Amino acid sequence: MADRLFPALETPPGKEALRFPDATLTYAELAAAAGTLARDLPPGRVAVWATPTIHTSVAVVGALLAGVPVVPVNPKIGERELGHIVSDSAPSLVLAEAGAELPAALNALPRKDIQLTGTGGELPAEPSPEAPAFIVYTSGTTGPPKGVVLPRRAISSTLDALEDAWEWTSEDVLVHGLPLFHVHGLILGILGPLRRGGSVRHLGRFSVEAAAHELAGGATMMFGVPTMYHRVAGEVAEKPELAKAFGQARLLVSGSAALPVHDHQRITAATGQRVVERYGMTETLMNTSVRADGERKPGTVGVPLRGVEVRLVDEAGVPIEQTETVGEIHVRGPNLFTEYLNRPDATAEVFVDGWFRTGDMAVRDEDGYYRIVGRKATDLIKSGGYKIGAGEIENALLEHPGVAEAAVTGEPDPDLGERIVAWIVPSGEPPAEQELADHVARLLAPHKRPRVVRFLDALPRNDMGKVMKRALGA
Ligand code: ATP
Ligand code: MG
Repeated sequence: MADRLFPALETPPGKEALRFPDATLTYAELAAAAGTLARDLPPGRVAVWATPTIHTSVAVVGALLAGVPVVPVNPKIGERELGHIVSDSAPSLVLAEAGAELPAALNALPRKDIQLTGTGGELPAEPSPEAPAFIVYTSGTTGPPKGVVLPRRAISSTLDALEDAWEWTSEDVLVHGLPLFHVHGLILGILGPLRRGGSVRHLGRFSVEAAAHELAGGATMMFGVPTMYHRVAGEVAEKPELAKAFGQARLLVSGSAALPVHDHQRITAATGQRVVERYGMTETLMNTSVRADGERKPGTVGVPLRGVEVRLVDEAGVPIEQTETVGEIHVRGPNLFTEYLNRPDATAEVFVDGWFRTGDMAVRDEDGYYRIVGRKATDLIKSGGYKIGAGEIENALLEHPGVAEAAVTGEPDPDLGERIVAWIVPSGEPPAEQELADHVARLLAPHKRPRVVRFLDALPRNDMGKVMKRALGA
C-alpha cells in the first residue's frame, strides 16, 4: 500500500487514523477502503462532495492513491459558483456519500457512492511528483474563485515543512472542526496527520466544548480559523474547566485569516497557551509559521518554512531589506501551485521570475518574523499621504470593550484621498463614534483614527469566516 504521499498508511495497521462523530477507521481499514476505491476510479478528474465526514476523507485518499486529481466541492456552495466549478474543472465523476442529495450541476455527472469498507490489493502506479493532486478553488474573498492546480510535490513538501516547524509526529492527535473543501481543513487537517501516521478527531461541527473535551481526552493539537479562536477566547475566560483543557494542548494553530491580537491575548490570559499562527494560501500552501520551539509573538505569522523563500518588495518590484517596512510578500519554493486552471492570463500575472506575488502586504521585524498588514487590494488605505494597514486599526478597535467585531476599509475622500471607515459589530450598546476614533488615535497615531464609524449586526463573512471586504465597498 506504499505511496509517497502517504508513507504511513502501511503501519501500524491497528492504529486509529480518523474519528468522526459517526464513524472511525483504523489505518488498515482506511487503506482497504481507499485502496478499493483507487482501483476502481477511471482516469480524469473527480469531484468530491466535500461534507465534513469520514466519507470525504476516504474519497480524497482513494483518488490520491489512484493519481486522479480531486476537485473538492463546498456542499454549501451557491448554484452559480457550482456551475462555474463544474464547467471549469470538467470532472468525469462525482464521489459522494450514499444518499447525499446533490445539486443539479453535479447530478448531471456519473456518480459513485463512497464506501467505508474494502479489501487489500495492488495499487495503481505512483504518479510523478509534478502530477496534479488537487484543483482547489480559492475562497472567493476578493473575486470569483480561481481553480488552483496543486501538484503532489506541493502537498508533500508543505506537510514535511510543517512537520519540521511544529515538531509534528505520529504521536499527535489532531482536533479538527474545519470544513474539508479547502487547504486548511483538507490538506493540513486530514492529509497532514495521515502522512505522519497520527490521528484525527473531527468534530463534525466545531464547538468550544467539543474541542475542549477532545483536548482533555488526550488530543494534542488543534487547527482553527480566527472565528473559532474568538469563540474560544470568550468561553475560556468564563469557564475554568475549558481553560484547563485548552491549556493542556501541545499546539493550538490558527490560520486562513489574521488572528486578532486581542483574542490571542485573552486565550493566553485564561489558558497560559500562546497560539501558533501560520500564513498560507491556496496557491502556495504554507509559507510561514511561528515555530513550536520559537518565540510566539501575537500578531505575527512567524518565519519562512523550511525550503520556502519569502521576500518583501516595494511598488517598483525592488526587494526591501530594511525591517519594519511595508512591502508585498513574494514566495518561491516547492510549495507553489502549477497554474490557475484554464487561466493562463491570471497565471502569467502572478508570477515574476519564478516568484509568486501573493497580493498580501507585510513587514518583517528584526528577528525575521513577518507581520501581515493586509491585502494590497482591500486592506491598504492611502489617506493623507500615509499608507495605512487595515489590520492594525482592527486590532486596536477590538481592544475597546464596546467592540465585538471590527473591519476597516477605505473610501474615497476629497481631502485625504481615502478616509478610514470602521465597520463595527458592537458588544452591547454601541459606543460613541468619537470615543472609538479617540481610542484608535491614542493607541496608534492620530492619522489612523477612523473618520466614519458604521454599526452592523454582523460582518459579511465567507465559509472560512473571512470578512468579505468587497461587500463593504472596499
Ligand atoms: P480569493 O483568492 O478567491 O480572493 P482568498 O485569498 O481568501 O480568496 P485563500 O487562498 O483561501 O483564498 O486565502 C489566502 C489568503 O488568506 C491569503 O492571501 C491571506 O490574505 C489570508 N491569510 C491566510 N492566513 C493568514 C494569516 N495567518 N494572517 C493573515 N492573513 C492570512
Ligand atoms: Mg487569494
